[in-house]
Amino acid sequence: MRPFRYQHAPDIGSAVSALAEAPEAAYLAGGTNLVDLMKLEVEVPDLLVDVRQLTSDRIEAHPDFVRIGAAVTNSALAADPVIRRRFPVLSQAVLAGASGQLRNLATTGGNLLQRTRCPYFQDLNTPCNKREPGTGCSAREGFQRDHAVLGASEACIATHPSDMAVALAALDAVVNTEGPRGPRAIPLVDLHRLPGDEPERDTVLEHGELITSVDVPQLDFATNSRYRKARDRASFAFALVSVAAAVDTADGVVRDVRLALGGVAHKPWRATEAEAVLRGAEASVEGFRRAADAELAGARPLPGNEFKVPLARNMIVSVLSELSGVPR
Ligand code: SF4
Repeated sequence: MRPFRYQHAPDIGSAVSALAEAPEAAYLAGGTNLVDLMKLEVEVPDLLVDVRQLTSDRIEAHPDFVRIGAAVTNSALAADPVIRRRFPVLSQAVLAGASGQLRNLATTGGNLLQRTRCPYFQDLNTPCNKREPGTGCSAREGFQRDHAVLGASEACIATHPSDMAVALAALDAVVNTEGPRGPRAIPLVDLHRLPGDEPERDTVLEHGELITSVDVPQLDFATNSRYRKARDRASFAFALVSVAAAVDTADGVVRDVRLALGGVAHKPWRATEAEAVLRGAEASVEGFRRAADAELAGARPLPGNEFKVPLARNMIVSVLSELSGVPR
């Protein structure tokens, strides 16, 4: 690990100023991903500004929304009674990620900003456009099992690893930040980027912009929601494909739906094409298949990850069927 300076900022304004003056600095919260990457020398900040005590570690329930402080741990979020009752998909997604020990330390803000687990990104001996722009993408001709089938580019086919972010994308969450240019609110679906020609940029955040909280708007039918994750091990593994869904059905018709996919793209993938097919349609296995096919029509799999397309289709149909009470 390279030497670095450590600083405890007294307040958010001081932390933002500290990063504004130091282009190679980074924020430290739980550190569960950043410190690993520093040990590998994939990340080499010269200054860490500790923000763990600066943002809220509370979950505030309001009638129209729930505000989750950026310092709320993954364990606290998953166990919170309001989250479990109003947004079971979010609690389930958080519990599907990492291990108990990591969830006790990892924060809500940090979870959203964790970096891809593409093995080439973590290996300094292999070309990787995300780690070192312009060097090439080793995954394109290499190991592709964990990689993207939607929204990828020639430059990068990495996937975003967060389970929590997939549920938050389905729930229309909004990320609140403080940065050098003041506060802003970013819809979660716009926080993460597709790789394009700049895969080194994971999000739209500016250097020094700090996530302070996440708002989840009230959605009555989110009580009927679910997160399902397919992975190579029963625990402590990232998603091959995951599905976050909430469904409102009446008289055999889908009145409204929220659907997002994980493990398939460089960002949590809100399945807007499928949602458009589903709204107002009959709640049936055939209809769910049509919706899944509409979403996956744009998939561009590689030989090593072709299996993700039928896997995603089957998982979408399965989760929607369960939430709608439709026998398969
Ligand atoms: Fe790097 Fe992205 Fe290619 Fe992985 S997929 S090697 S992260 S450029």
